[in-house]
Amino acid sequence: KDLVNYSKENSLKDIPPSGIRYFDVKVNKIPDILKLTLGEPDLNTPEHVKKAAVQSILDNDSHYSDQEGTLRLRTAISNFLKRKLDLSYDPQTEVLVTIGGTEALTATMLTFFHPGDDIIVPTPSYALYFPIIHLTGSNLVSVNTAPTNFVLTPEVLEETLAAHPQAKAIILNYPTNPTGREYSAEELEKLAAIIKEHNLMVISDEIYSELVYDLPHTSIAQYLPERTIIVNGLSKSHAMTGYRAGYLAGPAGLVKWVMEMHAFLVTAPSNPAQAAATEALENGDQDPVEASKIYQKRRDYITKALNDLGLETVPSNGAFYIFVKIPAKYGTDDWAFAEDLAQKGKVAGIPGSSFGAGGEGYIRFSYAASDEKLEEAVRRIKDFLTKEV
Ligand code: PLP
Repeated sequence: KDLVNYSKENSLKDIPPSGIRYFDVKVNKIPDILKLTLGEPDLNTPEHVKKAAVQSILDNDSHYSDQEGTLRLRTAISNFLKRKLDLSYDPQTEVLVTIGGTEALTATMLTFFHPGDDIIVPTPSYALYFPIIHLTGSNLVSVNTAPTNFVLTPEVLEETLAAHPQAKAIILNYPTNPTGREYSAEELEKLAAIIKEHNLMVISDEIYSELVYDLPHTSIAQYLPERTIIVNGLSKSHAMTGYRAGYLAGPAGLVKWVMEMHAFLVTAPSNPAQAAATEALENGDQDPVEASKIYQKRRDYITKALNDLGLETVPSNGAFYIFVKIPAKYGTDDWAFAEDLAQKGKVAGIPGSSFGAGGEGYIRFSYAASDEKLEEAVRRIKDFLTKEV
């Protein structure tokens, strides 16, 4: 059997390569490029968390963990969700430790999405959702939120469900990648009423829940505990992207099936990563509070600086992204603008259309970068706009 061509027979063949990765490879070749492309904290993992990982290795904690994660970590997750959101999850049956938020998302989608299912995703959104929906054979029902200030409104959700009455699930992400938009309790409550009426399942990607600046984080699970799978993890809150420590929580009737999928996909999560995650959740509530102060200052700076250059920005009140409207000269061609800015201005951001419908005509910058880097980026963007636009 020709293994190279054999691999082209599967459904991966229809999935275009990630635009983000393609762009990253391209800009990496530009000398002296200043990258505001990365979706990860520039801060270091807190010392006490690092020590817990090291200690786990020194203690010969080197055998397979419980498949669903250690009970101590699942209990720490359950306590965290109680403390932060007043939600109650049984650590034994309703919490699963995963390899980052990514595995939580992928395992949940592979478990519940089947060929022909309609899956609603407000866009622009995190780009990982699209290929996984495709792999399951389900249909992406993209809801363009650009006309409603990048927020899914109850009216638009009603319209979408009128057109797709059989929709099975909705994926929500707040604070949102790529806009940094957090949803208020009031907004979520209104969406929840419609979701319940139409009997949808909810995947609620709350990976940026600890990085919010203007309003407290609320979960849609507070209104819809019976139908929501919360996805979260330590990657962003504790600057631990490389540890691959994530989790999900939801009703036992749903989580039991994801646990089976997870066992097939990864067997069990890693022990040092779980030891670190346990320490972060048991003793690290203050870490994201401190990180948020830093990101908030940068958010304030970059928003004002870009607005002062005449660039329109989507209000960012969480995560570490700012979504910026590109200059009129480029129309909606965000790829052309991003390429020009990278080649001639030496600043890289991600073209907005990589995040799906509604992202065209925008560029995403990450402000998970030092003050000096952000100041230099603003200088370069100003220079570029003066000379080229
Ligand atoms: N969900 C969103 C919205 C993200 O932006 C990311 C990472 O960028 C993830 C999930 C994945 O997180 P993890 O690194 O924990 O897999």
